[in-house]
This record gives sequence, C-alpha cells and structure tokens, in this order.
Amino acid sequence: MTKRNILLTPGPTPVPPEVLRAMAEPIFHHRTPRYRELFREVSEDLKAVFRTAQTVYTFTGSGTLAMEASVVNFLSPGDKVIVLEAGKFGERWTEIAKRYQLNAIPLKVPYGEVIQPDEVERVLKLHPDTKAVYGTHCETSTGVLFDVEAMAKFVGKTNAIFVVDAISSLAADRLEMDAWGVDVLVSGSQKGLMIPPGLAFLAISKKAWALHKGAKLPRYYVDLASYDKSLKDWDTPFTPALTLVLALKEALGRIKKEKMERVWKRTEELALQTREAMKRLGLELFAKRPANTLTAVLVPRGIDGEKLVSVMRDEKGLTLAGGQGEMKGKIFRIAHLGYITTSDIQMAVSVIKETLAELSRQSSPKVQV
Ligand SMILES: *Cc1c(COP(=O)(O)O)cnc(C)c1O
Repeated sequence: MTKRNILLTPGPTPVPPEVLRAMAEPIFHHRTPRYRELFREVSEDLKAVFRTAQTVYTFTGSGTLAMEASVVNFLSPGDKVIVLEAGKFGERWTEIAKRYQLNAIPLKVPYGEVIQPDEVERVLKLHPDTKAVYGTHCETSTGVLFDVEAMAKFVGKTNAIFVVDAISSLAADRLEMDAWGVDVLVSGSQKGLMIPPGLAFLAISKKAWALHKGAKLPRYYVDLASYDKSLKDWDTPFTPALTLVLALKEALGRIKKEKMERVWKRTEELALQTREAMKRLGLELFAKRPANTLTAVLVPRGIDGEKLVSVMRDEKGLTLAGGQGEMKGKIFRIAHLGYITTSDIQMAVSVIKETLAELSRQSSPKVQV
C-alpha cells in the first residue's frame, strides 16, 4: 500500500474519482457504433475547451507527440521557423525542428522572463520567409504565461502559421484559439483535462491546413490526412487508447457542467491563493508574468531545492515539482490546475512552511536560538 500523497505537479495531475471509475469498464471493440458515438461526443466536446469551431484530433501518445505532429504535418526540409524559447518546453520546439533539419531561428530570453509580443513582430519582419512560429502558452518549466493573443495578431499578418503548445494551460489559463487566431493548438491529457497521461490533441486552422497540403516532411503515425479521413466516420486510423477516451468523456462532462469561464476563474483564484501564501512565507516568485496554471517559487538561499522536494514527497505526502533544465534545485513548482482544490493548496502551504523551517535549522545550526 502506498501512503496517501497529494499530487500538485503540473502534469500528471490528480484524476477525479468518477473519471477513475470510468476507466474500470470492460474493454470493448473500437470499430463499433458504441465507440463511434463515444468518440463523436468527445471530439465535439473538446472544441468547447479549445474554443474553436475546427476539428480537434486525438492521438495516442503524450503531449510531445502532438508537438512533433505539428512540425511534420506543416513543413518541408529546410523551411524557416521562428521558435520562442523561454524555458525547457520552448527548447523542445527547437530540438524537434533541428531533428527535422528545419532552419530554426530562436527568439530567446532567460528562464523566468517574458518574450514581448512586439519582439515577435520584429523577428518576423527580419525573416519574411518564415513558415511557422512555434510558441508556448504557459512555459511550465518557469511558470510564465505568454501573451499569445497579442503575438497571434502579429503572426496573423504574415504568411506564417502560429503553433502554440498549450499542453499545460488548456482548461487552466484563458485561451481562445479562434478568437485569438491561433493556427495550431497542441495539448495533452494529463494536465487541465484531469485524465491520465496518454492522449495528445491538435486543432488546426484553415491557414494551417493549406500549409499541410504542400508539407514534404515524412510522417506516418501522425499524418493528419489519415486522421481526418477516419474522423469522417468518428474513427481513428489506429487502435485508440479507448480506456482513456472513456475517461475523457467523463472529464469533459465535468468541464461542460462547470463551464470554461468558471474553470478559468477557479484556477485563477487558486493561483492567487498560492502566490499570496508564498509571499507571506517570505518567498520570491520566479515568473515575471505568472500563469494561473502553476506557481514557480525560488528556493531560499542555503536550502537544497532537490532535498526540499524529496523530503516533502517521501516524508510528508506532498508531491510538488522541482526545477527543470537549468533551474534544477533552484525553484519548486506548485500546480493549481484541474482537480486541485483550495484545501490541497492550504495543505501544501503548511507542508512547505514546516519543511523549509526544518531544512534551514539543519543547514545553519549556529543561528538557531
Ligand atoms: C507537460 C508539457 C509538455 C510535455 O508533455 P508530455 O505529455 O510529457 O509529452 C510539453 N509542453 C508543456 C508546456 C508541458 O507543460
């Protein structure tokens, strides 16, 4: 038996009990009217979460599969792309682009900082032959939220498509695919959607579809043309992770009942609660423009950040995320998206306070009174 442990990481996130129960159903076959009806329903309901009238495609895989799909489906070898890099997930776009031999132009700022929308405009003017701009809505490694709405206005004036990683921010921070003019929106299942890891999603504008037609990069499993063809019969080209699709139906039902505006508002309230509590503990927030999805907090001087996270997880039943990439050991991150409540945050705050006090006594015994 594992001990009760509160999971406050920005993916995977806790799964509501009725969603867990939906996954305990016996397996059935997917080329059946029952599955087609289920898949039709979730595909339609996803549109309301993506805030789009476009089709939302579902892949079996984690979020990164949808990132890769949104490179290979729209580009040809040597194409020029601009990548907005402000943390580990922005860097991932660059890694994928380079692996596919694209000409990736990074627009880079240090971890924790923000890329200004007019910088995107400036770089697009320098590179008028850009085919796509790859960005991140919430950079989960730093807790920064990017002004995707303002950026989309600039990209929309060019021939380039704007591809946005909303893997952590979907159903957490306000995001309007159609109204803002995002061309490709990428997400995953294990964050705001409150289901386990294993599904990836992609929605595509007409402008992006036009680019898809001429895109020559090789692709098989994630070729959108075959997903689009199958979806005409509410089907997928390959065996779907149907247990997760059952879970998705349940989770989307929950979101539909609550309504997106309320989901965003509730997440914002948890974010405010968390930021205020961290400031009261005398801690410094890391993100220059904090997302509501998660809060990144600087580890105080003299404290071992990796130890802080492992002591809370192994001894106190609270799993937070540590720092990633160059922020390893320097920050910790508290998620407040999906199935996370005010009392989870309260519990986290008291565990953080207690553990910091213990670790600082251990690290500086001389100052102890
Ligand atoms: C979690 C996350 C990913 C990675 O998703 P996987 O499901 O681990 O492949 C990518 N981008 C962002 C912003 C994320 O938060």
